[in-house]
Amino acid sequence: RASRLVADKRPDLQLSFEFFPPKTDAMEEKFWESINKLAPLGPRFVSVTYGAGGSTRERTLRMVRHITSDTGVPAAAHLTCVGASKAEINDVIRGFEAVGVNRIVALRGDPPEGIGQPFTPHPEGYQNAADLVAGIRKLGDFDISVAAYPEKHPQSANWDEDIDNLKRKIDNGADRAITQMFFNNADYLRFLERARKAGISAPIVPGIQPIHSFKQISGFAARCGASIPDWLADRFEGLQDDPETHALVAAAVAAEQVTELLDEGVTEFHFYTLNRANLVLALARLLGRRPR
Ligand code: FAD
Repeated sequence: RASRLVADKRPDLQLSFEFFPPKTDAMEEKFWESINKLAPLGPRFVSVTYGAGGSTRERTLRMVRHITSDTGVPAAAHLTCVGASKAEINDVIRGFEAVGVNRIVALRGDPPEGIGQPFTPHPEGYQNAADLVAGIRKLGDFDISVAAYPEKHPQSANWDEDIDNLKRKIDNGADRAITQMFFNNADYLRFLERARKAGISAPIVPGIQPIHSFKQISGFAARCGASIPDWLADRFEGLQDDPETHALVAAAVAAEQVTELLDEGVTEFHFYTLNRANLVLALARLLGRRPR
């Protein structure tokens, strides 16, 4: 393995980093500090999420605009179509384009009550993410990523429905899929196999969630339908009041996950940074990428 991890000897390695738009001045300072630490790793893009139902619309736009103009790193804007008309969404897309952002992570989003509740499209809106992808394609030349679910989307009745939905998003013009967080690599590899069998050839980039706080990540996982395996809970058990050991275990778990995927031939990784840089910097180094 060591020979495969030599710095910058992997020209095929592609990294992307996901951030959320900061709410306060202090959070914004941290956001830029982390972006500036990760930018020299030469990511394909840094993406900024779009708060539930468009609640962060202005902040997402401001962040991607500044990333593009101030750091030289390509920025991608997340966009959800829940609760908005096509005209409103198209305005947001034109707003991204106007500030030089032509990368979009196109999503359906969830109703305000959460992912467990049935989704009702806006009467004049896009029906789902596949429909949104088709709409974005009509508006211009965008690089489009969509979401994929190694453990199945909670609203998909079965695997066929789930994979068909992903195929529609790719067939409508998405360039790649990025997965929801997962902790069992076997789930991701099985999902890849299902997708390839269904004729999906676009990249399906694993979304890696470093566990800065086991309690917080368990909560996120429960809300988005990702499972926390018993072996993982076991590793963090009893570490609530021992931040140093918690951090070491988190680093070891994430390192194990990415190096195993690398051994399986995975060359593209998307990191959910939660606006923190250090663990991601270390993981990039393990993957053979140093600041340039
Ligand atoms: P879709 O692909 O449209 O589908 C979701 C489910 O609905 C699937 O089960 C599908 O089979 C079913 N479905 C689709 N169309 C139909 C139909 N016509 N009839 C019946 N069923 C149908 N959320 C945010 O709010 N902001 C973000 O920035 C954000 N970023 C994300 C980034 C990534 C990488 C991922 C993986 C998720 C992100 N999410 C975000 C969460 C996402 O919005 C939710 O997971 C949401 O529940 C589904 O969005 P989707 O784009 O996958 O939906």
